[in-house]
Amino acid sequence: VFSNIVRAPEDPILGVTVAYNKDTSPNKLNLGVGAYRTEEGKPLVLNVVRKAEQILVNDQSRVKEYLPIVGLADFNKLSAKLILGADSPAIQENRITTVQGLSGTGSLRVGGEFLARHYHQLTIYIPQPTWGNHTKVFTLAGLSVKTYRYYDPATRGLDFQGLLEDLGSAPTGSVVLLHACAHNPTGVDPTLEQWEQIRQLIRSKAFLPFFDSAYQGFASGSLDADAQPVRLFVGDGGECLVAQSYAKNMGLYGERVGALSIVCKTADVASRVESQLKLVIRPMYSNPPIHGASIVATILKNSDLYNEWTIELKAMADRIISMRHQLFDALTARGTPGDWSHIMKQIGMFTFTGLNSEQVAFMTKEYHIYMTSDGRISMAGLSSKTVPHLADAIHAAVTR
Ligand code: PMP
Repeated sequence: VFSNIVRAPEDPILGVTVAYNKDTSPNKLNLGVGAYRTEEGKPLVLNVVRKAEQILVNDQSRVKEYLPIVGLADFNKLSAKLILGADSPAIQENRITTVQGLSGTGSLRVGGEFLARHYHQLTIYIPQPTWGNHTKVFTLAGLSVKTYRYYDPATRGLDFQGLLEDLGSAPTGSVVLLHACAHNPTGVDPTLEQWEQIRQLIRSKAFLPFFDSAYQGFASGSLDADAQPVRLFVGDGGECLVAQSYAKNMGLYGERVGALSIVCKTADVASRVESQLKLVIRPMYSNPPIHGASIVATILKNSDLYNEWTIELKAMADRIISMRHQLFDALTARGTPGDWSHIMKQIGMFTFTGLNSEQVAFMTKEYHIYMTSDGRISMAGLSSKTVPHLADAIHAAVTR
């Protein structure tokens, strides 16, 4: 019955790793997937995660029963506190509901499905460009996806005017997806002053902001600084949604730990919203997995572990920032034509190099360097040892 099935294309991001794995060159370099690597090019399990796991293993009272539909209560409370801040009025007034999700992706999907069922405007505006999965996640959730201008290739920075114009002409009440920090794939974030202008526009048109927070702590090294845009919106008393991921900032990629929070006007509304979120989740995956959320809760509720986490997180962010400087210096040393200052200005895991798909294909073929065809490179996949190889490849690609 399936003999006529057409082969689907590889995922544009995960497919990069598939191609990389097939390459037998000793010099091959995978800058496609956004996963942190050490200077030695190895995946990293944070020390603090190992410690939390040890605590969990030693606790004989722990069982493997199902979690509630909304997940681990401690985890949910602590996640809201992490992104909104302990003194957030929304938390103090209990007008927020937080449910555990299957990392960032699952949290976005649950949020999308909830909106498709219960929100009066089915159009969601996402930045152009954005993380490739956004369109699919929200379309399949039942929303209609439109884009707003975000990135200006000429300046390799924010197209702020375009953003204001596009959102300014969007229908009242639309949902607007915002990257909380470290915009993927561009690494370009609005300044705080620009965020304030965006907030005013969003509130004046009664848009519903939906934050995707996949990199809290990764952009600047500070959990609070990276949460500023979200807190700005929650601070005005209005509604919003926030999807959080612990994939990057705790290195829990495969554990699939995240959360969806919906900030409402009153505690009563929040509890009704939560009752409906349960109806979205139950037929989708019933209830979320216990292990990763327990690791996160163990770390967040213990001040020693929490402090240790912030230090390890800062070390990851600093290594990425140092890679930006090293790559910039290496291109400068080679006299590579063009302005490469955006490598240092952009924020977070990725640099949007400005290389086109032909140049990317050339670098893959001749230098065994793998990245998405839009020229996005994961700075977290680079090391002092591999920077010269990448700089040689970029130099050859642009001088060809
Ligand atoms: N949103 C953005 C912007 C991302 O970059 C990512 C990960 N690449 C995600 C969401 C989701 O990641 P995960 O589901 O692994 O948490």
